[in-house]
Amino acid sequence: MTALTDSVAVLAGVGPKRQENLASLGIVTIEDLITYFPFRYEDIQEKNLNEIGDQEKVTLKGTVVSEAILARYGYKKNRLQFRMMQDHDVFSVSFFNQPYLKDKVILGEEIAVYGKWDAKRKALNGMKILGSKSPEDFAPIYHVSKAVRQSTLIELIKVALELYQEQIFENLPTSLIEKYRLMDRKSAIIAMHFPKNHQESQQAKRRVVFEEFFLFQMRMQGLKARDKAEVNGISILYDVPRLKKFVETLPFELTNAQKRVTNEICRDLRSPQHMQRLLQGDVGSGKTVVAAIVLYAAMTAGFQGALMVPTEILAQQHLESLSQLFDPLEVRVAVLTGSTKTKERREILAQLANGELDILVGTHALIQKDVFFANLGLVITDEQHRFGVNQRKILREKGLRPDVLFMTATPIPRTLAITAYGEMDVSVIDELPAGRIPVETRWIRHPQLDSVLEWSLKELSKGHQMYVICPLIEESEALDVKNATEIYERLQTYYGDTYQVALLHGKMKNQEKDQIMENFKDQKSQILVSTTVIEVGVNVPNATVMLIMDADRFGLAQLHQLRGRVGRGGDASYCILVADPKNEMGVERMKIMTETTNGFVVSEKDLELRGPGEVFGFRQSGIPQFIVGDIVNDFNILEVARSEAKKIWQNSDWQHQAEYSSLVETLKIADEEQFFD
Ligand code: ADP
Ligand code: MG
Repeated sequence: MTALTDSVAVLAGVGPKRQENLASLGIVTIEDLITYFPFRYEDIQEKNLNEIGDQEKVTLKGTVVSEAILARYGYKKNRLQFRMMQDHDVFSVSFFNQPYLKDKVILGEEIAVYGKWDAKRKALNGMKILGSKSPEDFAPIYHVSKAVRQSTLIELIKVALELYQEQIFENLPTSLIEKYRLMDRKSAIIAMHFPKNHQESQQAKRRVVFEEFFLFQMRMQGLKARDKAEVNGISILYDVPRLKKFVETLPFELTNAQKRVTNEICRDLRSPQHMQRLLQGDVGSGKTVVAAIVLYAAMTAGFQGALMVPTEILAQQHLESLSQLFDPLEVRVAVLTGSTKTKERREILAQLANGELDILVGTHALIQKDVFFANLGLVITDEQHRFGVNQRKILREKGLRPDVLFMTATPIPRTLAITAYGEMDVSVIDELPAGRIPVETRWIRHPQLDSVLEWSLKELSKGHQMYVICPLIEESEALDVKNATEIYERLQTYYGDTYQVALLHGKMKNQEKDQIMENFKDQKSQILVSTTVIEVGVNVPNATVMLIMDADRFGLAQLHQLRGRVGRGGDASYCILVADPKNEMGVERMKIMTETTNGFVVSEKDLELRGPGEVFGFRQSGIPQFIVGDIVNDFNILEVARSEAKKIWQNSDWQHQAEYSSLVETLKIADEEQFFD
């Protein structure tokens, strides 16, 4: 019996050593091998030499117009050199340490060479000879290792397909194949490796991408449907009149968006289904008050709530804002962080366990083994992208499947939200409180810094405050601090006795950090020089200037977060980016920041420029790495796949649900933990 689950060892030429080498590429079975798709195709195009940028990788086709000469030098080093002609242009080609290519270079014959173009020397640094194929031909290019070469892999795939192609069965519903005119699975797999032409390769890819996204979405939607069906969450029957009364005591009228998301969350609280909701809202959109309302709601139903934040400063700040909003006689709130003193900690833990505490705010200290809640009903994590999935998991395990709300200011573009958070419900605050003036953003180069400092005097003289952010130097925390200290000293000299400059950095003790923040809030200092520790959530409405040094070192989402620290009061605010970007992309990124204050737009652009892995970090964000599909470029396919998968699960399409249920269980995902903890 042959099946795609056979080991690659059945193929001729695959002995133990090669088997091992293939396994290191993730290829164990025949199925792995035939679905090990090329990541791109060598498109043999005749490019005009003048069109090629310096150091660009290209394939050039032409006639060999000189004998290939092999020059040996040094120990075991050699260079193969010859000239090629394209139209009437002659250029030289050299290959290093690939002497065996000499036989492939025949005077007067056409060849295609892949390599890196050196514009100055008008020479191609050859990497590979592709033979002379017609321009329509594609050479598949695979990710390979030293031990497994392209040619070996192609040969093995060819053999495997010959032996096993009858074993490749369709795995998509016929209705969808017809509806979207998709290639059948067998043809698509073959065409992925050996496309006849450009068009065929595109069709094959469309099918394979659809399959990848659809199966993924079937799993996501399947799990979501299952979770919804299991009525084992808790029903938080909050006290409506008390909640209404509380909302009336707020110092401002909620925005419509805040009202809407509060309703959505409250509906989930009441329902016996387990809530897993993502609350997205740009910086300053007012998520904290929404958190306060729903925590209060849980309390009126006799449940405890936990609010988890990434930093101690933020924990402290949340405690303050909650205490201000709540009547202290009615709601008992405490904060627990790594620096809570032993005695106080013991007290808090006791009160938590016997139900005397209603709400606990804290960092990951909240989830240590000895922390027990009497009746945990709701868990909220703020800036959730900073939390490890495991941490959230442990916290949730402390209660009886409490409802969970993830709040994030990182504007996750829709593309990502529906992949990474496909199993969650999403609420969006898409409106800022009235009266906010958009932050004006300017990009300057280093030499202009002096004039900006001069300008800052004007803002400071109005009684406003300013943040100065120093870049994080990843390689070295010491360098990081040194850098921040230098800027701090420079500014101290600059502002002299007129304004107080304070310094905040990651190496400081928590108590010290709190004190510095406190002083800044109380306007005892006017200028706060800081590494990115203030990035998340700090609320000092009187600060109107955000000056970011070496801004090109930050991600756009991060810059946007930092910018969100100003423009929180009613005054015009400014964000100044100091940067001398080294390339086009850097310039582009600075421009985007100056052109929009909409976090979603910023994030979308960042995604386009850098790709999801760079922007969010796969591990942190839980965004799956697809093999063929690209969630940005293939977004349309992703949307269609999702809506079809959703239909199957929501419309009681029993037949397909049954067909895919085992698949839903077994579908491979990079890191299972990332999704359904
Ligand atoms: P974020 O969503 O970034 O966490 P915050 O919750 O910190 O935003 O809110 C930012 C500021 O806006 C706070 O000072 C808060 O008191 C204020 N705020 C929140 N909602 C409103 C509202 N509806 N009207 C006016 N101000 C509001
Ligand atoms: Mg916040």
